[in-house]
Amino acid sequence: MTLRIGVLGAGQLGWMLALAGAPLGLRFRFVDPNPDAPAGRLAELIVADYEDPAALDALAECDRVSYEFESVPVAAVEALGGRVLVCPGARALGVAQDRALEKAAFARLGIPTAEFLTVASDPELERACASLGLPAVLKTRRLGYDGKGQVVLRRPQDIAGAFDAIGRAPAILERLVPFDRELSVIAVRSERGEIRSYGLTENTHRDGILHLSLAPAPNVTPALERRAGEIIGALLEELDYVGVLALELFQVGSDLLANEMAPRVHNSGHWTIDGARTSQFENHLRAVCGLPLGATDALGPAGMLNLVGHVPPARELLAIEDAHLYDYGKAPRPRRKVGHLTVRGPTLEAVRNRLAVAEQSLAKSSG
Ligand code: AMP
Repeated sequence: MTLRIGVLGAGQLGWMLALAGAPLGLRFRFVDPNPDAPAGRLAELIVADYEDPAALDALAECDRVSYEFESVPVAAVEALGGRVLVCPGARALGVAQDRALEKAAFARLGIPTAEFLTVASDPELERACASLGLPAVLKTRRLGYDGKGQVVLRRPQDIAGAFDAIGRAPAILERLVPFDRELSVIAVRSERGEIRSYGLTENTHRDGILHLSLAPAPNVTPALERRAGEIIGALLEELDYVGVLALELFQVGSDLLANEMAPRVHNSGHWTIDGARTSQFENHLRAVCGLPLGATDALGPAGMLNLVGHVPPARELLAIEDAHLYDYGKAPRPRRKVGHLTVRGPTLEAVRNRLAVAEQSLAKSSG
């Protein structure tokens, strides 16, 4: 039986879902307001707003529906949920879209986070800064990504104007965490409640955008790995989740603090395409389709470099041993994720060296 999967959003995540779904015999119907969205080059694309009634009717005709863009309106997902199986469900989406609800969910499950307070006015921001102390980071509750909708407050004079800088939207003020490093954990849960987790990934950001991932993350103790599995397992159960869930973490000493979750396949899991026995994209589709999940073990040391702004010449990138290029076919633009490179190697050192060559190529070609 050929299943047709409807997907809200047709960006690079949708493009990689379509790539992973082809061998499984899946067909896709994407909805995205952008006529040039990458997944449209691989599968049917309906160019429409996410709440367009005709587009929602077309998705409701599919066998299953998922989403690859976490800012799709919850109302659209809720409406679809009454007509077709939508995975993950509207509740997970609603929680992930609001930093305050997300933090409340973490707190209910005993998952530590940076200390925070909600802020909806200048006087509230003043009070929150006095209570939490500086440095702190002010983040909009909704619609923030890749460092957008955020401002770091280091000195008292940074406070005035900060609320304006984020568009006076409801926000949270978070204490700035002096983390040792950033990690993420990605896991998948099936309809039957089976959970499989990828090992911890180490992530480096640049200007708020993911730059590099290394997997399996180096210097991870079994206790840390276990803790990450417990945390994401608790979230998956609490949200009665089906599909892939990603959680960004700060490591402070031997502790893990949750930063934010993404109810979808995630940039820090792109290494799984070439570096794990089953990619995050295939496992998401397996879960959504009610199929058995695939093994999540890493095949060996792997890494991922995001190509932000432009894609360097493929000839240079592919000259790197065991490097694999994913060019999303997007127009070049500063701060835009237009592709990524996954790299494998016999050792973590080799992976790091190969990524460094790719970084040089990216820097050299940027003029
Ligand atoms: P976010 O949009 O919450 O993922 O934040 C983007 C990036 O900003 C994170 O990956 C961190 O590098 C940094 N960041 C966010 N919140 C904090 C915090 N409370 N303490 C330290 N760094 C942070």
